[in-house]
Amino acid sequence: MAGLVRGQFISLGELRDRALTDRDELWQTARSVDREAKLYLHWTAGRYGQFYDDYHINIDADGSVYITADNLAEIKAHTWRRNTGAIGIALACCAGATSNSLGDEPPTDIQIECLAQVVAVLCTCMDIPLNGAHVMTHAEAANLDDYGPDTTWERWDLWFLKDGDQPGSGGDIIRGKASWYRDGELNESRVKGL
Ligand SMILES: [Zn+2]
Repeated sequence: MAGLVRGQFISLGELRDRALTDRDELWQTARSVDREAKLYLHWTAGRYGQFYDDYHINIDADGSVYITADNLAEIKAHTWRRNTGAIGIALACCAGATSNSLGDEPPTDIQIECLAQVVAVLCTCMDIPLNGAHVMTHAEAANLDDYGPDTTWERWDLWFLKDGDQPGSGGDIIRGKASWYRDGELNESRVKGL
């Protein structure tokens, strides 16, 4: 049973180092089950400041990033049938969210920006293509496996990022921001040299 963990604060520079160290093992683990390395993006459905060991990385409401794994290639339990060779990243938020309201603790703007920066660093340093096939919200993955918003709504993490947003827009917004950080503000040499 997964539970609350303390997590360890990690800077983007330290995350880059961790990503470069664990890259080959992540890909080997993925290849062992005939997959490619992937990132799955979640919310915890807990409160701000609460981190869970289901994920490799938890991001708090103030944008601070916490690592909750010894190794990014470790197999955790975040995304049903998709955990091998995949990294789970969660925003600490969305306690009490429903399918049409994100509740009193929705994702914050800085939390979303920092998620996009984490995605940019991991994709760049671990050779993971930054596209919808390799970087998916849990809502998008759940739709592929028939338990998402298209069917049962059992999981719908990041299907939308703010109340009133277009349903289903969350993944594209995060990937768009991540591409921007990768290509612009945090271009590849800067990501690798942070
Ligand atoms: Zn999830």
